[in-house]
Amino acid sequence: MSQGASFLAQVEQSFDRAAALTTHDPSLLTHIRECASVVRFSFPLRRDDGRLETIHAWRAEHSLHKLPTKGGIRYADNVDAEEVMALAALMTYKCAVVNVPFGGGKGGIRIAREKYSQGELERITRRYAFELVRKNFIGPGIDVPAPDFGTGPKEMSWIADTYAQIRTDDLNALGCVTGKPVSLGGIRGRAEATGRGLFFGVREACSVAADMKALGLTPGLAGKRVIVQGLGNVGYHAAKFLHEGGAVVVGIAEREGAAYAKDGLDPEAVWNHRKATRSILNYPGATSMAESPKALEMECDILVPAALERVLTADNAPRIRAKVIAEGANGPTTEEADAVLNQRGVLILPDLFINAGGVTVSYFEWLKNLSHVRFGRMEKRFDEAQANRMMRGMERLTGRSLGTEEFDAVTRGADEVDLVNSGLEETMVQAYHDIRETRQRLPAGTDLRTAAMVTSIDKIAMIYSEMGIFP
Ligand code: NAD
Repeated sequence: MSQGASFLAQVEQSFDRAAALTTHDPSLLTHIRECASVVRFSFPLRRDDGRLETIHAWRAEHSLHKLPTKGGIRYADNVDAEEVMALAALMTYKCAVVNVPFGGGKGGIRIAREKYSQGELERITRRYAFELVRKNFIGPGIDVPAPDFGTGPKEMSWIADTYAQIRTDDLNALGCVTGKPVSLGGIRGRAEATGRGLFFGVREACSVAADMKALGLTPGLAGKRVIVQGLGNVGYHAAKFLHEGGAVVVGIAEREGAAYAKDGLDPEAVWNHRKATRSILNYPGATSMAESPKALEMECDILVPAALERVLTADNAPRIRAKVIAEGANGPTTEEADAVLNQRGVLILPDLFINAGGVTVSYFEWLKNLSHVRFGRMEKRFDEAQANRMMRGMERLTGRSLGTEEFDAVTRGADEVDLVNSGLEETMVQAYHDIRETRQRLPAGTDLRTAAMVTSIDKIAMIYSEMGIFP
């Protein structure tokens, strides 16, 4: 079985387990589970040295119950059809859990990006976007890609530009892709959104005293020991915000090894060290571990796998010491590991909830592109003036004058990034409690992944039944 095929089976098994706890029509459940469309294509690339190479690429649109479909594009040398189908399905369920009105999509190009020059990557990306336009697999109301493993704002800007050059009559062209640089229609707060969302979700989970007591932990994030795998977009930001929120990041694992220090690491300093020395090893004051996966098994309260899928397996699950696992990556826990960890009472905050910050802020970016105005632009000054008048009135009434800093803190109008972060926090906190409530009405012992999946299935089923398609 290929990596992708087993990952797809993992997502489908998780769906089936949840579906069995619902009372929806079996034919509706089959329809929700199926992938609506997958396109596979190949195109030629002229390498810088003159050689001709064939590039293989995919895009899957899992569910069309809401449009556009939405999901990242990954560049990795093991991408295949099953993998993008699995990831597209996860996107459908993820969007439903956090009330983002999109169907799920995902794309991939089978390349190891470090083997290609910047010029080659641009040619690959633009041709991929061109093929998506030709096949009607991209557009602000059709399918909206975003960054994923191996892609970032630059690739998104090439995609947006290619689309706009072809669809010159589309006023909303910028909304054809999210995760763009801010100067090209992106939104402030998108780059760190998945890690920040993970932080909000973990903080919320840790605030529920009864759940923490069941794990033998005290409520609150302060002092909780965290290990993070992957110091990329998701892992770095998750580590940074958890550290700033009072947790102690005791371990960080990367490809080449891991750093562990029981008194805590500063994620930003570790990132700078890795950038300067090209390795996480030999970080001053930390124990260097050459065998990176072993770091997952070290002493901690919260484990954040934020690099790859299928890293928690039947083999290492019995040795995982964390009591909470926050799945920053998509699909980091195999079915077998899931069963072992649940049986041991570990609280798994599943990928389809805990890493949904990226798609949530992507939704905000898309809204910004369709409205053609930056969030906060219209009301910021007005809100400031109102708050100013109110505070001056209070000063007159109380005879007490506030210092400039205190005054400004109260009267400052919201910038775009403040609104984005506030919308993200509201989304993650609300979604966590939706999932918990669902879990409470399911049989005792149901895990959060199943509860999240049931929450998602119920929402999608309601849409179909309101359309009268499946009574
Ligand atoms: P990224 O490329 O920015 O970072 C991945 C990091 O993992 C890199 O630093 C890489 O060196 C490291 N890594 C690779 N192999 C490793 C190994 N064997 N051990 C330890 N570290 C290893 O990618 P990303 O955007 O942070 O995505 C990571 C995961 O999060 C993926 O599963 C992705 O699907 C998921 N995700 C990303 C987003 C997003 O907004 N970027 C949103 C939701 C989910």
